[in-house]
Amino acid sequence: MTGNVYANHAHVFPRTLNPDGTVDRLLKLMDACQIDGVVCFAPFVHHAKSAGIRPNNWLADEIRHEPRLRGFGTVDFAGASMRDQALEIHDLGLVGIKLHPNSQEFDVLCPRAMEAYAAAEQLGLFVSFHTGVHAYRLSHTALWKFDEVAHYFPNLRFSMEHMGGYHYFNEALAVLFNRYPPPWVKDSKCKVFAGLASVFTQHQNRMWYLRPEQILEIILQTSAEQCIFGLDFPYNQERETKMGLETIRGLPISEEQKALILGGNLRRELKW
Ligand SMILES: [Zn+2]
Repeated sequence: MTGNVYANHAHVFPRTLNPDGTVDRLLKLMDACQIDGVVCFAPFVHHAKSAGIRPNNWLADEIRHEPRLRGFGTVDFAGASMRDQALEIHDLGLVGIKLHPNSQEFDVLCPRAMEAYAAAEQLGLFVSFHTGVHAYRLSHTALWKFDEVAHYFPNLRFSMEHMGGYHYFNEALAVLFNRYPPPWVKDSKCKVFAGLASVFTQHQNRMWYLRPEQILEIILQTSAEQCIFGLDFPYNQERETKMGLETIRGLPISEEQKALILGGNLRRELKW
């Protein structure tokens, strides 16, 4: 069983920054793992600085002639207004923003972040958040804060990557379940998503590992429509990616549900 696979969450870099994380390297992995399309993330500003590139412009140039790739931009918390930065991302043809509260060192509910969410909501940019313990103040990245984001920006579509990871999975599921329309609310779509990246392996990124039963629990308490498969390339390469695909394909769910998780949902949300 294969079928088309589209994945979120590939970090890409200029060769000088990470020779194992280039667009060419990603394309090779896609061929090896039979993946048809991938969303690439621009390098964060603090990574891009040393390479002397403007990350969003660089990414837009890298993927412009590569129909199998889409791009999410990044914002600089020390830079211009968030609205202007989001507009630039949008005008470059990028379709979302990757936000990493831990690595970019911001509180999920700080005023500048709220400005970014408002702009993303208005421009229809999809936001992928890192969630899960990652060497930064837990108080700034507490999972319940993502429920506040959903509350204040009801039309913002966002994914919680790693679903809180090993340590905060239940809290991430609480947010997703809380935002999932109860059966008596008709015609309401949940705009919060479970980003299934780096949750499949114990030899790599063990701090975000989820057991297959936990992944199944997301689907049973909400829906397969909320789950989006991701790579976390280049921190995962072929071996880890294949293990992720096997995990999803091995879940006791229908082929239709697997197809949604392995690309259908991502393509629907990004109109891809
Ligand atoms: Zn990431």
